[in-house]
Amino acid sequence: MTPCALQRINPTTTLPLLRRTATAPLFPSIPPFSFLSSTSPSPHLRFSFSLSRGVAHALHKTRCLCSKLSMSQVVVRDPDVLERKKASIRDAGPGKLQVIADFDGTLTKYWCNGVRGQTSHSLLQQGNAEYDAKRQALYEYYHPLEISPTIPIEEKTKLMEEWWEKTHGLLIEGGLTYDAIKKSVADASITFRDGVVQLFEFLEEKDIPVVIFSAGLADIIEEVFRQKLHRSFKNIKIVSNRMQFDESGRLVAFKGKTIHVFNKNEHAIDMAAPIHDKFGSSDSPDVNGTFVKDRTNIVLLGDGLGDLGMSDGVSFEHRIAVGFLNSNIEKSLKDYSEAFDIVFLNDAPMWGVVDLVSELCSMKQ
Ligand SMILES: [Mg+2]
Repeated sequence: MTPCALQRINPTTTLPLLRRTATAPLFPSIPPFSFLSSTSPSPHLRFSFSLSRGVAHALHKTRCLCSKLSMSQVVVRDPDVLERKKASIRDAGPGKLQVIADFDGTLTKYWCNGVRGQTSHSLLQQGNAEYDAKRQALYEYYHPLEISPTIPIEEKTKLMEEWWEKTHGLLIEGGLTYDAIKKSVADASITFRDGVVQLFEFLEEKDIPVVIFSAGLADIIEEVFRQKLHRSFKNIKIVSNRMQFDESGRLVAFKGKTIHVFNKNEHAIDMAAPIHDKFGSSDSPDVNGTFVKDRTNIVLLGDGLGDLGMSDGVSFEHRIAVGFLNSNIEKSLKDYSEAFDIVFLNDAPMWGVVDLVSELCSMKQ
């Protein structure tokens, strides 16, 4: 199946979800936006809608500054609610803000050079075919259980712990090394969305912490930063599974608690540790989560409905949830647009989020 086939949108399905004006646009000098799929040339995929004045201003500014965004699509379920949240967060100031982000399919592209991008877990090749096959067999057994609509969450949580622990056991038993991780990342189809570096730079400059939550492997995420960005950011911490290597660079254990899909949230903030410049470096995690203490306003970035749970454990005052809906758009748009304040479609770049945080950190007017 091609990316285009996955990204087709039926306008009659999507339009009722969007707030529309029955007559002329509220802000006549700015026409209703028409966003066109970035991958399909078909004119049948074009649709347009009108936005409230505030959101129209914001998006117009984004479009002017970042023409790249106009190649994507964005859905805002309730522009008035979004504007109110933005005003409250802006009034509280950058000192109250934190950004929470999922990694795979959120910071990274869903499509990478025309093929499905790999995840930080799936890209790993142990250099041992027998163990790669064993981990794949676990995936085939447990993944259907993970997504089953009939298994209660408590039961699923136990199953996920079982799956992650068996997988980690195989990585140790199969003799995973630093070098295998470096080679896996070098060979992988994985890349950050356009605009991610600019987002991180902006947030670093404003001293706004970013917590990346992942049920994958922190050591691989760090290696992706090293190989793809060639740098780290002092304001970013990762909450994910961390490996411990011996002097020869061979995996011997995992540190701390196991982070899986159902517990990757701020209850696990004691696992947060910075991105390390060198493989094998390790700092003590910030066990008290002081870097996010009193940061009660949140911008949450995710590509799955479950990612909304990343803010569990924070008594937040205001949260703007931004979703990246990368596939099955026609089927999932209704759920995404109800769950997230803003939904970017078609594997969109990060420019819209860059503009959002710039606006949240702008001076009060
Ligand atoms: Mg994801």
